Amino acid sequence: MRCPFCGGPDTQVKDSRPSEDSAAIRRRRICPDCGGRFTTFERVQLRELTVLKRSGKRMPFDRDKLQRSIDVALRKRPVEPERIERLVSGVVRRLESTGDGEVTSEAIGEAVMEGLKGLDDVAYVRFASVYKNFREAQDFQDLLGTLGGRLAGEGDPVADAAPVEGTPEAVAAPRRRSARARS
Ligand SMILES: [Zn+2]
Repeated sequence: MRCPFCGGPDTQVKDSRPSEDSAAIRRRRICPDCGGRFTTFERVQLRELTVLKRSGKRMPFDRDKLQRSIDVALRKRPVEPERIERLVSGVVRRLESTGDGEVTSEAIGEAVMEGLKGLDDVAYVRFASVYKNFREAQDFQDLLGTLGGRLAGEGDPVADAAPVEGTPEAVAAPRRRSARARS
């Protein structure tokens, strides 16, 4: 593994241990050239995944990107990192085991929402709102409706959600719904 700091070719493994419920191996590495330390993860990859975007473009699936969007949805929520890792691994595994190695961005969104639904309601709503990009305001209202009053007293998950690009009216629609939900 090449050193990410100096580009040195011969980094050494200092420590190696199971991680993420033994779904991964975590390795601490050190570079003898510059002393740089970094961590690598070894995970099972059942197959190469390609994401088919709504625009029709294809790009390689990026696990880190998936992890980041889930992290944003779970920001400040009381969920252990270990459970989040398991969610990410579970989503990836499910995507890998369906179809022909090509997944739509929609299928990824659905898989994440499915996972978050069982993990944390607030994160679920945050992710759903970002994922749907407020384009389907009516659907979003249906979603809040199905969650019922469970979000009462949780603050405003929509206002707390990650910034999204969107038209002002698209952003405003779910907020109005939230305001009603609290009254
Ligand atoms: Zn180095």
